[in-house]
Parts: sequence; structure tokens; C-alpha cells
Amino acid sequence: MKTFEELGVAANIRKAIEEMGYENPMPVQEEVIPYLLGETNDVIALAQTGTGKTAAFGLPLLQKIDVKENVPQALILCPTRELCLQIASDLADYSKYIEKLRVLPVYGGSSIESQIKSLKRGVQIIVATPGRLIDLINRKTVDLANIRYVVLDEADEMLNMGFMESIDAILEKVPEERLMLLFSATMPKEVAKITRKYMNNDPKEITIGRKNEGSSTVKHVYYMVHAKDKYLALKRIADYYPSIYGIIFCRTRKETQEIADRLIQDGYNADSLHGDLSQAQRDYVMQKFRIRNLQLLVATDVAARGLDVDSLTHVINYGLPDDIESYTHRSGRTGRAGKTGTSISIVHLKEKGKIREIEKIINKKFEQGVIPSGEAICEKQLFSLVDRIEKVKVNEEEIADLLPSVYRKLDWLEKEDIIKRVMALEFNRLIEYYRDAEEIDTPQERSSRDQKEYPRRKDRERNDRSSGGRTAERGYSRLFINIGRTDNVNPATLMGLVNDFVPDKISIGRIDIMQNFSFFEVPERDVQKVIKSLNRQEEKGRRISVELAQGNPSPRNNYNAQRFDRDRGMKKDSGSRNQNQKNSDKGHRKGNRKPKFS
Ligand code: AMP
Repeated sequence: MKTFEELGVAANIRKAIEEMGYENPMPVQEEVIPYLLGETNDVIALAQTGTGKTAAFGLPLLQKIDVKENVPQALILCPTRELCLQIASDLADYSKYIEKLRVLPVYGGSSIESQIKSLKRGVQIIVATPGRLIDLINRKTVDLANIRYVVLDEADEMLNMGFMESIDAILEKVPEERLMLLFSATMPKEVAKITRKYMNNDPKEITIGRKNEGSSTVKHVYYMVHAKDKYLALKRIADYYPSIYGIIFCRTRKETQEIADRLIQDGYNADSLHGDLSQAQRDYVMQKFRIRNLQLLVATDVAARGLDVDSLTHVINYGLPDDIESYTHRSGRTGRAGKTGTSISIVHLKEKGKIREIEKIINKKFEQGVIPSGEAICEKQLFSLVDRIEKVKVNEEEIADLLPSVYRKLDWLEKEDIIKRVMALEFNRLIEYYRDAEEIDTPQERSSRDQKEYPRRKDRERNDRSSGGRTAERGYSRLFINIGRTDNVNPATLMGLVNDFVPDKISIGRIDIMQNFSFFEVPERDVQKVIKSLNRQEEKGRRISVELAQGNPSPRNNYNAQRFDRDRGMKKDSGSRNQNQKNSDKGHRKGNRKPKFS
């Protein structure tokens, strides 16, 4: 291994980095620095964040800048404001002992006027996000005619974010005889295209770690669920890992906000991070997450990019990203700094193919996880609490004064009783929630033969629906109603519903609650009254539909299963199903303590 001195790094820069604790070069620095100091080659470096890439390009650039010339000589393009600030601040640290060297970060979301003023005063290195730089170029307030070095940092991310055109427009303004460095965690086709288009000084390709390989400290797990169960599965996973500290990646800003809102409503320590928030809001959330005051960050790929956090226990993909390369970025956020991490993907059947594609890219197999049962979750949480009770540091002095009266008050209880009560305080809600919660089905890929032999539950129910599998008792008629367990209906709520909407007191016979609908029996003479009173009423945002079930000895025995299917579909589209889903997912964590980290 070479020293920084042997790599040719100047004494004034070495002094600064030594003070920062850099004793020896990291592999990417050892490879890149000589090329840049030699000044003959472009460099394509496949390296992730955390490998030391900023110093790899930063140290030689600083050394190459002519401080006597007060014009921009080096341009560093990067995808986000946070990375932009990070790079500029690193460069400022490295150049602590280089007099008159000025670095300017240029990024959207802050005052363009003050950036223009700084540019007028003169800078030698510009670190910029493409959008804002284009803005400055259009205002003719930045001069790129003397640029000799261009760095594209996190090139794959910049392209993911749609900066290709901006990069083209910027590079057009830069002289052709410049050296160019490109850093990227992955090498999708688009990045390779840039290297071919712009890098013609005998480019050297450097790979730190194996190409495209997912970090070996990351375990990849997928959970296969029906699309409608995704959120419930997410909650179960969050419940199963009481000390989880992770990012939940969603595909859109809207979905990000929705999931965060639902988690917050359900009592989780969660918040959202996406582009619809103001910069101040984003900074606040990121800071909260960094200092671990926030346990679950729900984010879009783009917004999470600027967040450098090393100790995530989990990354959760709420559905797989459209672009498989993004998966590498997401999962690379856990298992860092020598720690292990898990990248969890909650997927539905249609995404199975993507899992296989990703496996090829990361050169690693996914494990298929089984959504934890309610029982397993309760047990896990219980032992986590016991663990916390064992480990908690008791501040004797602070509570000393209060203890005698507490002891006195609890004197009548045995130790075992006290333990039981502490458990009950923490667990009653959780246990109640999971006692009634349906287990989540794993959808199976089946051959058509299998499907014939083993109809899915939905199909079984549909077959049953016409009769509900029963005939009514004598003197009673059996009615069908389009709400079921999914809508949080149980016999008591159904009786309450009939009592609320039917003006006279009705005697209700047998009740059968199915997954998506239910049957109940009422005296034959009351059938029309019940149907008339209940039909078209709203329950939890859902239009109720009641009819005589097939198999009833009645002239109106024309129940048509398909029609109900259509009804459900229409209502689903109108958003009422969502409302019901929300109700059925009622948060058991609500009101609980905010989960703390162990
Ligand atoms: P980067 O990949 O540029 O974000 O760097 C990752 C981390 O490594 C940063 O905290 C750097 O300050 C640190 N770092 C970079 N080079 C060295 C080095 N040679 N020795 C020790 N730490 C370093």
C-alpha cells in the first residue's frame, strides 16, 4: 500500500487530511489519484458512497487548481443538494492550508442571488446540481470557458433523476480539452453511453469492489403478498423487528406520503421524505432520522439520496423500483460500515420476475420470507420488552425520592403480578389487534390444473355466495350484504347496522361473516323493510348493498354474483374500499409509547 506522499499528494493537503485522521489512502484513492495527478487520463470509477471517492477526486483536483487564476477551473456535478454540500465541505476541509482557494456549492432550493454574488467574487471549483447550474448558465452568470476538470459524481443517480439533457447542455459549455472523471455505483447502459460520448482521453476503468455486486453484509429477503395486503405486511414486518431503524422506499411522492400518514396514524414512529416537502421540512425530517429520533423513514429514492446514514438495520422496498439499478442503491444503504443489514422487499406475484433479474445483477439469492404470524410478533415484542427491562439503566438518584411512595402503593402486589401488569400495559393492544387479525395469505403460483382442483379462497367464497352454503331457518329469509371481514364487520357490528338503519325492531337470526361479504337472516315478513332501509346507506364510506341470497324460497330470488363483483369493483374505484381498508387496519400501536431504540 502506498502513502499519500508516495501517491504525490502535496504537503499542504497532506497536513489537512492528516488532521482529519486520514492515515493511509483508501483503495479508490490509491487508484484514482495517480491518474489525475499525471493528467493524461479520463477515469471511470465504479465505486459506492463510503468508499472514499470524494478525496479520490478532491485531493488531486485541489492540487491542480491554479489559485492565482480567479476563474472556475474544476466543475463537479452531483445529483442532490445534500451531496453537493457534503462535497464542498470536504473540499474546504482538504484545502484548509491552500490559501485563496475557493469552492462554491451551487444547488437548487437556496438563494440564486447569493450564489451569483459568490460567482462574481470569483471561485475556482464549482460543485453543482445540474438544474441550478443550467439556471446560472442561462442567466449568463457563470463562465465555464476555463474548466479543465469535470467530475460526474453518482452519474447513475443523476441519470435516474432525469439530468441527462442538463448534463449534455452543461458539457457543451465546457472546453473539449478537459479531463473527465465519472463515479457511479452501477454501470447501466445510459452511463456507459456518457462514457463513450464524453470520455476520450484514454479512459481508465477502475472498479472498487466487484462490479454491481450487492454488499455482502446485506441479506435480501422478499415477502410475496397480494397487492391489497402490502400495507398490512409492512406493519407486521415493522412489528416483528421492534428495534428496526430503516428506510421504507416507495415509488411515488403520493404513495410515500400515504404510507407515512397511515403508519403515523397507526402509532408508529414514522415520517415522510419526498420532493413535495419544503427544504426546511426535509432537513428537519432528515435530522430527526440521523439522530435516531425517528425509527421509520418513508422516502422516495430521490429524496433519500442525500441522506448519509450508516447504521440502518433494514431497508424496505414497498414494491420493487421500476429501475432495477435503484434496487442496488436502496439495499446498499444498509449493511454499511461493517454492520449487517437486511433489504426487505414486499412484492406481489407479478414482480417475481424482477426478483430473479435482481438476483442476477447482485449475484446473490433472495430468501423468501414468511409474513410473521400474530403470535410470533407478540412473542418477539414481548422478549424485546423483557430485554429492555433487563438492560435499562436506572437512574437511582433521580427516582430515589419517589420510590418509597411507589413501593407503598404497590405493596399489595406480588412480584409476578407486577410483571404481568407491566406486560399487559405494553401488550394488551398488540395482542387484541393480532387476536382478531386475519393471517396474510401468500399468493401461490399455480398451474391451471391446480387451480381447478384447489379453488382459491375467493373463488370458494364466490361459489358459496349464492347460497352462503346454507338455507335459512323456517320463517326466516337469508340476506346477502356486500360487507365482510375485510371491512371490519363482525356479528355485533352487523346487528348494530340493522338496528341503526331499520326503523322497527327486527329479530335477527343466523349471521355468517365471510371475507368480503356476509349473510344474515331476518323474518320473512321483514325482508323488504330491511332491504329498503339498508340499501344505499353508507357505512364507513361504503355504499351498502343488500339482497336476498340465492336459494331463498322467494320470487326475488335472482341474485347474480357477477353483479356484486361489478359493484365491488366500482366502489373500489371510487375510493371507498380504501376507506374501509383503513378502518380494518386500525392501529394497534396508537397511543403506545414511541418505540425506543435498544
Ligand atoms: P466518501 O466515499 O467520499 O463519502 O467517504 C467516506 C468516508 O471516508 C468519509 O467520512 C471520509 O471522510 C472518509 N475517508 C475518506 N478517505 C479516507 C482515508 N484515506 N482515511 C480515512 N477516512 C477516509
